[in-house]
Amino acid sequence: MDTALSQALLLWYARAARPLPWRATRDPYAIWVAEVLLQQTRVEAAIPYYHRFLAAFPTVESLAAAEEEEVLRVWAGLGYYARARNLHRAARRIVREGGFPATVEGWRRLPGVGPYTAAAVSSIAFGQNVLALDGNALRVGTRLLGIDEPLEDPRTRLRIRTALEALIPEGRAGEFNQALMDLGATVCLARSPRCGTCPVRPWCRTAAQGLWERIPARRAKPPKPHRHFVAALVRDAAGRVLVVRQPPRGLWGGLWTLPQVEARTWKQARPRLERVLGVRLRRRNGKVFATLRHAFTHFLATFHVVEASPSTLPAVGRFTSPCSSELPLPAPARRILGRLNT
Ligand code: SF4
Repeated sequence: MDTALSQALLLWYARAARPLPWRATRDPYAIWVAEVLLQQTRVEAAIPYYHRFLAAFPTVESLAAAEEEEVLRVWAGLGYYARARNLHRAARRIVREGGFPATVEGWRRLPGVGPYTAAAVSSIAFGQNVLALDGNALRVGTRLLGIDEPLEDPRTRLRIRTALEALIPEGRAGEFNQALMDLGATVCLARSPRCGTCPVRPWCRTAAQGLWERIPARRAKPPKPHRHFVAALVRDAAGRVLVVRQPPRGLWGGLWTLPQVEARTWKQARPRLERVLGVRLRRRNGKVFATLRHAFTHFLATFHVVEASPSTLPAVGRFTSPCSSELPLPAPARRILGRLNT
């Protein structure tokens, strides 16, 4: 591979770059927020969240000054709330230390910032000459090189990284990284790459050998574990629903959910729910109110929602209207409350 490849890629990018809102700015804060959102969700889904997040917290100072609960509320619906908490903690550190880091190493020291995000922000916002290797860039790299080894293998990644790093034109790493990402997202598609319109086809070993169905090699993924939760649906006379704040650490750290424990049946769950709420609970009818499934990154969950009456008003938690958005609720809790609105 040679510098003509980089030139062809950058020329294509100048013409075909996706007009994404975070590309209209060099503000490191906005670029960083976008990169964190993009780890979480697809580009199309990230755009409204990007606008919503920046409307709520337009600067790193405003994010640093916000309460964590407010940050989680704005993030609600995206899942993986540890990312939002880390973004918030990192903003506080940036403000405390007097400004954004300008180097990859500086970004890596911030909470929740991994090698990809550090490289993406420092190349795009600060012109650092570093490669940002996301899933799209890895796919393009492995196909260009014709490597049919699984991408999970660190040796494969190192080969791709070394080859692509050598192609970065001095001072243009930000464009180069974004061009690779866009090529992977719009041309070198996972299932049916559009080799006929690809600007780097003359250098592509996979296209030359017609092997795109085999490259990248896919390693069979083990099935995700399946976990069960029982949630108590407790309502007051006004129809409001009892929600409790989860402990700061863990899957739902700092968020509000129905009182819930990991269990399969009401019989298993009841004594533990009673300990959480500090009251006795009586099941209101023999049926499960709702059963919901939700796919988390590392496991599948089934929520068994059971209507219950407390012996007295619980001292923990608070009652909220099912259609209120005042509290940060994760997606499964929102879906349960959504059932009450229909
Ligand atoms: Fe991907 Fe085809 Fe382009 Fe090769 S020629 S990088 S397989 S789209």
